[in-house]
Amino acid sequence: MTTAKARPSIQHAAGKAEAKKKKLARHAEDAATAPALRSKPSKMVYYFGKSRCEGTAEMKLLLGGKGANLADMVSIGLPVPPGFTITTDTCAAYYRNGQRLPHGLMNEVHKNIALIEKETGKKFGDNGNPLLVSVRSGAAVSMPGMMDTILNLGLTDASVAGLASSTGNVRFAYDSYRRLINMFGDVVMGVDHHHFEEAFNKIKTKYRAKADTDVPEQGMIELCEAYKAVYQRFKGEVFPQNPFKQLELAIEAVFKSWNGDRAISYRRIAGISGLNGTAVNVQTMVYGNMGDDSGTGVAFTRNPATGENALYGEYLVNAQGEDVVAGIRTPIQVDQMPKWNKKVFAQLLEIKTKLEKHYRDMQDIEFTIERGTLYMLQTRTGKRNGFSSVRVACDMVRERLIDEKTALLRIPAQDLTQLLLPSFDPVKKKNAEVLTHGIPASPGAAYGTLAFTAAEAVERARKGEKVLLVRKETSPEDVEGMHSAAGILTSTGGRTSHAAVVACGWGKCCVVGAGELEIDPVKGKLTVKGRTFGRDDVISIDGSTGEVIAGQIPSVEPKLSADFAQVMKWADKYRTLGVRTNADTPEDAERARGFGAEGIGLCRTEHMFFEGGRIKAMREMILAETREVREKALAKLLPFQRDDFIGIFKAMKGLPVTIRLIDPPLHEFLPHDEKSQKEMAQQLSVSPEKVRSRVASLHEANPMLGHRGCRLCVTYPEVLDMQVRAITEATIDCLRSNIKALPEIMIPLVGTKKELAVLRAQVERVIAEVKESEDYRPRLDIKIGTMIEVPRAALTADEIAEKADFFSFGTNDLTQMTFGYSRDDIGTFLPDYLSQEILTADPFQTLDTGGVGQLVEMGVRKGRATRGDLKVGICGEHGGDPKSVWFFHTAGLDYVSCSPFRVPIARLAAAQAAIKAGK
Ligand code: ADP
Ligand code: MG
Ligand code: MG
Repeated sequence: MTTAKARPSIQHAAGKAEAKKKKLARHAEDAATAPALRSKPSKMVYYFGKSRCEGTAEMKLLLGGKGANLADMVSIGLPVPPGFTITTDTCAAYYRNGQRLPHGLMNEVHKNIALIEKETGKKFGDNGNPLLVSVRSGAAVSMPGMMDTILNLGLTDASVAGLASSTGNVRFAYDSYRRLINMFGDVVMGVDHHHFEEAFNKIKTKYRAKADTDVPEQGMIELCEAYKAVYQRFKGEVFPQNPFKQLELAIEAVFKSWNGDRAISYRRIAGISGLNGTAVNVQTMVYGNMGDDSGTGVAFTRNPATGENALYGEYLVNAQGEDVVAGIRTPIQVDQMPKWNKKVFAQLLEIKTKLEKHYRDMQDIEFTIERGTLYMLQTRTGKRNGFSSVRVACDMVRERLIDEKTALLRIPAQDLTQLLLPSFDPVKKKNAEVLTHGIPASPGAAYGTLAFTAAEAVERARKGEKVLLVRKETSPEDVEGMHSAAGILTSTGGRTSHAAVVACGWGKCCVVGAGELEIDPVKGKLTVKGRTFGRDDVISIDGSTGEVIAGQIPSVEPKLSADFAQVMKWADKYRTLGVRTNADTPEDAERARGFGAEGIGLCRTEHMFFEGGRIKAMREMILAETREVREKALAKLLPFQRDDFIGIFKAMKGLPVTIRLIDPPLHEFLPHDEKSQKEMAQQLSVSPEKVRSRVASLHEANPMLGHRGCRLCVTYPEVLDMQVRAITEATIDCLRSNIKALPEIMIPLVGTKKELAVLRAQVERVIAEVKESEDYRPRLDIKIGTMIEVPRAALTADEIAEKADFFSFGTNDLTQMTFGYSRDDIGTFLPDYLSQEILTADPFQTLDTGGVGQLVEMGVRKGRATRGDLKVGICGEHGGDPKSVWFFHTAGLDYVSCSPFRVPIARLAAAQAAIKAGK
């Protein structure tokens, strides 16, 4: 067990960002360490101590994070036990050397041990007053659990007696020795830990000891004998009695751990590559296990969950190393320390201030108290969650530790989500039964009884029930049910599946692609791992982790802090990229404005054909055989759509609204099961056969590549007519009542200039007609543009720009068509692609800059070559992804558009991109 592992929630929250930061830092360090990269490392060992301190904080690549910071703490005068660090290059040389320690290394080690001996007045392997050391691994990037630390190295049968007499504490000496035999046997020689545990349990039973600390002196002496016997039984040789032999084997074990299973899988999961190896830290032991005036602990200099400016951590009296986090005894909260030792607590507070002044960031520290004297054993940047990173950044600006730009760069944009959405009560969630994991598609926390169809969700929600909509997948037909549900759970589909995109837009909690779920909507049953849940059962879903949990977990609502507002204000000061939102309703538009959206970058009009009674008119239109009948059906939709647009224009109060004309294929508006088809036939007074045959005729082998987008308007120009008429009438209506409506008409799925030319002419004609019939004289500024989402459109952007006032990259479709991956089905193979590192990220979540990004860059360049003033935005899911936002900033886009809840993330990411670019 490691200390880092004991704080998993925080670890995970900021782990990736941390790795990224370190990766960036690495480039800077490369130059400094370049000479050491030659095949024979020039200087293999760096000493840290009062007499001499050879390392610096900047040498993380060479000395590892732990080693560099130990040296750094020494140089700012903190109490650190002296020691030395063997470089990561030496580890690399060990592997080049066919896993043999490089020539001359042990010589250097001897020299440095001599330096420690001089400084401490103790002697390694001495039978009187022995020097003991710890052997600790430590790479440039923190890799928790790579290798367990070996403590008390240097103890032998002879020196343990020396330790006992020099300290006057026999129990302590043998407690230290048994720990060494155990750790050395386990970590260095591979003797399974449970063999030692068995031996310990026997002794405990013999002495009726509950805790380790209850075992008396005599028991500890016997335990050492028992441990040595275990060691000999499994290794076929005695426990090494030469301290330098122990040290050499331990150093080699650290090097070996670099390529152990644990380390390899950790690097893969955390996406760490390009590192040299691990450093080895050999450090004078200080003893937290010398009695009740000694102890050991870990702490953050500020609260990693809330950001509160106070020490936060735990310590354990009369304990060593990993006892604190191993759960053997219950540790004590650090703020209780004054009751135990006021002086040490005051000293810790002083060190907190000193460290934060020095690193200008929150630190995660490890310390030990030996007979009332405090020693620092580690410091590193503390991991924290979104709340904490916002508060710490703002506090540190107020404390003048950092400037605004640094504060902005410190906050992982993605983590802002945690501040905006409800989340599960972490205490209650701890004991939850997790049934399975899906893809976390839209963050938040939701629970409810299960509804298996959209209609059922609507009906039960109307009666006041809190329901979770559980579907294999969703389609536009389900939208009302999705809206009524507290959360959405599907068993197929990926991050840009219908359920994911729609839910994300609303900020509604959603988990998709939970493949282990078997959903039977007919019986109203959900089965997972042999357990069955029905309509009355409650399930909770965590949209931030993808967890599907049995029963109800209470959630907590977010409260936006003044610090959050401050961060947003700073972000707006530094960013140059505009941020709009994807919103289809006045409510969403309003909410997004509240989050700072500067317009709507994508207003989908699909739902305007669905809601309430509208679907009936839409279906009439689809079944119609003549243009006349179609127009009559469409005429019924027009007033509804006009009112929808008026509502949105009002909500946006003069900000631009980009409206996309109808996009999905017509079959999505028709029912597919027999029962609903019959109902529809009845409603429209046609034969069921007619409905069936129309559905059949609309069937396409590849609907995503089929009759959709602008292609629909080419076939059915009257659909375009109706929508443009509704937009224009709404605009004139608003302008006449002094509401500044600023619509932009966007034509989807264009692939050729001619397509756009034909449709643009038609749009212009309808606008002119409406002006005429409304008798509206003033100029009407309605921009007409297109989405760039078919690769051909990007390739011929110079031609297309002749007919477009603006471009908006539809990166969902563009990714789908560039890779040839179906965005609705990628869940079936994406996990394999990620685990085999064929892809480094889900391309529907983070833009593939190497491929799809080239098309974006080309589209911008070519488009602007034709029209210098061409406004260019992006409205795919990538608009709210920080990494992708950085790319869009660099590519010279005017704005990104994302779902309302992602607007703050995009604002911050855009500021970070601008600050980075300016540096
Ligand atoms: P990890 O990287 O897993 O945190 P460390 O090398 O930091 O491993 O060691 C874990 C713990 O072992 C430390 O937190 C500290 O309590 C103890 N430890 C390490 N070196 C020493 C030492 N020289 N003296 C006393 N305790 C030590
Ligand atoms: Mg540590
Ligand atoms: Mg599209």
